[in-house]
Amino acid sequence: MIDYDAHRLKLQSIIFAKGERKAQEQEAKVETPQCTHHRQRFTQTIRPDNPNFRGEAHFIVSACVPCKLKTYLELVVTP
Ligand SMILES: [Zn+2]
Repeated sequence: MIDYDAHRLKLQSIIFAKGERKAQEQEAKVETPQCTHHRQRFTQTIRPDNPNFRGEAHFIVSACVPCKLKTYLELVVTP
């Protein structure tokens, strides 16, 4: 059986990540050039707008804290 709620959340999350990436490309233009990028791994929890979904979803994110440069590595959905 296909878990539709998990699937729907996955699609939403992909759209969300695309939007974030676009915003970041614009931010990158004003980025501090002297940053050497010390990347750390974080998890970013996604709040689903589907109240029927009882699972949990988060992104594994690689980010540089000083300049807020973020890369979405992986989407984890736990139904
Ligand atoms: Zn940086």
